[in-house]
Amino acid sequence: MATTDTGSSQSSSPNKIDVFWHEGMLNHDTGKGVFDTGMDPGFLEVLEKHPENSDRVKNMVSILKKGPISPHISWNHGRPALITELHSFHTPEYINELVEADKEGGKILCAGTFLNPGSWDAALLAAGTTLSSMKHLLDGHGNVAYALVRPPGHHAQPSQADGYCFLNNAGLAVRLALDSGCKKVVVIDIDVHYGNGTAEGFYSSNKVFTISLHMNHGSWGPSHPQSGSIDELGEGEGYGYNLNIPLPNGTGDNGYVYAFNELVVPSIHKFEPDMIVLVIGQDSSAFDPNGRQCLTMEGYREIGRIVHGLAMRHSDGRLLIVQEGGYHVTYSAYCLHATLEGVLNLPLPILEDHVAYYPEDETFSVKVIEAIKDYVKDKMPLWRTD
Ligand SMILES: [Zn+2]
Repeated sequence: MATTDTGSSQSSSPNKIDVFWHEGMLNHDTGKGVFDTGMDPGFLEVLEKHPENSDRVKNMVSILKKGPISPHISWNHGRPALITELHSFHTPEYINELVEADKEGGKILCAGTFLNPGSWDAALLAAGTTLSSMKHLLDGHGNVAYALVRPPGHHAQPSQADGYCFLNNAGLAVRLALDSGCKKVVVIDIDVHYGNGTAEGFYSSNKVFTISLHMNHGSWGPSHPQSGSIDELGEGEGYGYNLNIPLPNGTGDNGYVYAFNELVVPSIHKFEPDMIVLVIGQDSSAFDPNGRQCLTMEGYREIGRIVHGLAMRHSDGRLLIVQEGGYHVTYSAYCLHATLEGVLNLPLPILEDHVAYYPEDETFSVKVIEAIKDYVKDKMPLWRTD
């Protein structure tokens, strides 16, 4: 079992979630164009906002303030990270590149990833707010903290930006946990894209077990050289401590729960973490413009419940949740609400799903998950029985 917390940790289910937020993160303006390209081809009458826009996060704030879950939410102020704090995950050269790009008025760092005026301050707020959320848990002030942050972070690698991300918010929080005495941290990433940046940051470590469930999108260029495939298992001491679970398009609620029960949960039971970080993206939902995984509120709720159980068993209930993608402007907020209902282990749903209607068929996903299980069982030290 995990080490005992020194603070207010309880053995009962959490009755509140400490949300960390700062409205300065709304000032990251990603512009308009054809989806996330920033491009105006000249022949369209109506362009759209970049998918990673402030509207999506305004609705997440709003649903937690006004939705049925609001009595369970406690609000806390975020803060900007110090430059020196960023060096625990990122190289000084990369941070200098970002600082210089900001001074020069902005830069396109890679496809879809626009550092515009105001973006750097927002990125520092996202990183600092996530660090404050983790510190809150480490100091024993609460058991469940949620860093409601943007720009997102899980694609940001130690030395480069990628996929709308500049600073790896979750990765910085994991470093803080390790530097503060945590022995083993697990990161469970359910954003629809591979959490390549976080995996890369801890690829050689057996103290951080990175798990990512994502669509099978592969590498998408020099900013994202990792493939997210099952054979990226880590290296050196970290071999076997990166678990990639690429899932077929349309996997849905039942397929995700199957992947959790067959792969994620048993691996974490073996790993015995003393801190759990749940990296959430509502872009795994059935209606997201950026993914095809077809989760609904019920799937998110069940994942929240499963992770709640893991935290109760291994980390004295301590759980940090970090916001990543999720681009459907209304349904993302609903899926966030459902996830947090699950994390609170509420006995019944308190917000109805007015939107979900796709039929589910997890048959193929189950076969894929069984194949992944067969593969990793031979390779991962955690699965060995000796
Ligand atoms: Zn994503």
